[in-house]
Formats: sequence, structure tokens, C-alpha cells
Amino acid sequence: MTRPIRHWILVAVLVSGCIAGTGDADLDSRLEDGEAYIWHLGHAGWLVRTSEHCLIFDYTGPIEDGALDSGTLSPELLSGQNVVLLISHAHGDHFKRHVLDLRERVKNLVVVMGWQEPRSGNVVVPAAGEWTEVSGAKVLTLHHDFDDIPEGFFLVRSGGLSIYHSGDHGTWSDPPQATFRSNIDRIAAAVERIDIAFISAFGTRARTGVLNQGDIYSIKSLEPRVTFPMHCVGCEQRYAAFAKEAESLGLPTTVGVTEAAGTFFHYRDGKLD
Ligand SMILES: [Zn+2]
Repeated sequence: MTRPIRHWILVAVLVSGCIAGTGDADLDSRLEDGEAYIWHLGHAGWLVRTSEHCLIFDYTGPIEDGALDSGTLSPELLSGQNVVLLISHAHGDHFKRHVLDLRERVKNLVVVMGWQEPRSGNVVVPAAGEWTEVSGAKVLTLHHDFDDIPEGFFLVRSGGLSIYHSGDHGTWSDPPQATFRSNIDRIAAAVERIDIAFISAFGTRARTGVLNQGDIYSIKSLEPRVTFPMHCVGCEQRYAAFAKEAESLGLPTTVGVTEAAGTFFHYRDGKLD
């Protein structure tokens, strides 16, 4: 990373976003309801440890010799956890078939998929728009086919938290596409409050901004306590720009800025510290 970019990130963090502290968090820590440890697993991949579950979203990395500080997983790391592994759709940047092998190697692990995937065997595919209980977590999925394949995205209730992961649910149009708006409205109506939102940041707003109208619509509607832009591997500096722009637009959220896979965040009392 070059000096100017690092400086830019620091400025953005001071005005708006939060970069994680390193801390000595590990997966076995005891957490309170409403608290979460969050690790970025690269691209759209995240691990959210709540007081009740280890939620893993769209992980595509290796499953040997895992280390959280590099954003990788392994059966050894996950042993003893109550794991819900959520996969939004079949694109290779969200799903790699080898991650399903974790089912045979981690005792308490359930796979939730956002579409009916014929070759995957024993997985949960929630019916659209219905809360589905999975190992004590509640999962709500809605579907779309914006990229001509069946896709889902997730709202998860666990440990007193509501967590939204967009997968590739996004829109470039202005105003935002009607199905997109309706889906976001349904998510907003489904819970009292969104604590954490992971939003794929795809594109510009009339070539002038980092957030597009879909991002703005999502944040205004969901009012997530914290938002993590994602889906920009190799261009992570855009996340700091996203934070700065969200602040200047007065959007009702705090933006978490990840620099790389393995970045850690601690969520507590509605904030990152
Ligand atoms: Zn994608």
C-alpha cells in the first residue's frame, strides 16, 4: 500500500469509518448477547461470531491450515463452534465446492444455501420470505436473478443481533431497480433493527461517487448500526472512500473499513471498537 492511500484511509477513519483493532480475540471467547467478533475472509467472505453461533458467509478460501488473521478457515479452527455456513449463490467468487467438505469435518456445522443446488446434498434452502430456524439461528432469504442465475441473500438473527449479507444483491440503476427496492423494504420490515450489514459495493453513482443508488437506498432503508462495504478484492482502498462518502451524504450508519482478509472488528453496544 502506498503512503497516500494509507493517509487517505486514516483520514476517512477519523471522520467516519472504523478500522479494526487487533485485540486478542479468538473464536472461543465468551460473548454477550448483542456483541460480535467479525473477521473479514476476503471479497464477500465474513465470519461473525455471536454469543450463540459462528456464522460464515460466502467463504471461498482454503480449508486447510486456517488462520483467522489471514482470513482463512480450517476444521481445527471451527471445532467446538456452532457453525452456520451460508452461501448466497453459485458464482465462483461466493461459492467453491470444496468448502462443503467442512460438513464431514466439523461436528456442529449446517450449510444454508440461497438457491436449490442439485449436487450439494444435505443443505438447508430456506423458502423465500419465511424465517427458517437453523441450529437455533433464524434465517430469512429472498431471491433474485439479476445475473441470470438463482441467487439469494440473507438476514440472520443470532445472539440478539440482526445481520444482513447482500451476496450479489445490488443495483446500478437510478432510481434503484423495483425488485431490489421491494426486497430491501421487506428486509427492513422483517426486524426491528439491523445491527450489521455487509453490502457488495459494485459501482459508481452517475460516475461521480463510490456509493451507487442501491447502496444509498439500502442504508437509508435498513439504517444498519454498522455497514461493511465488500466485494472489491484488490481495490480495498475503495472501502475508505465509501466510508467518507457515506459520512458526507449523512447516511445513518457507521462504516467498517476492512483493509484485507483477516481484518478484525469488535461490535458492541451498536458500535465498532
Ligand atoms: Zn459476486
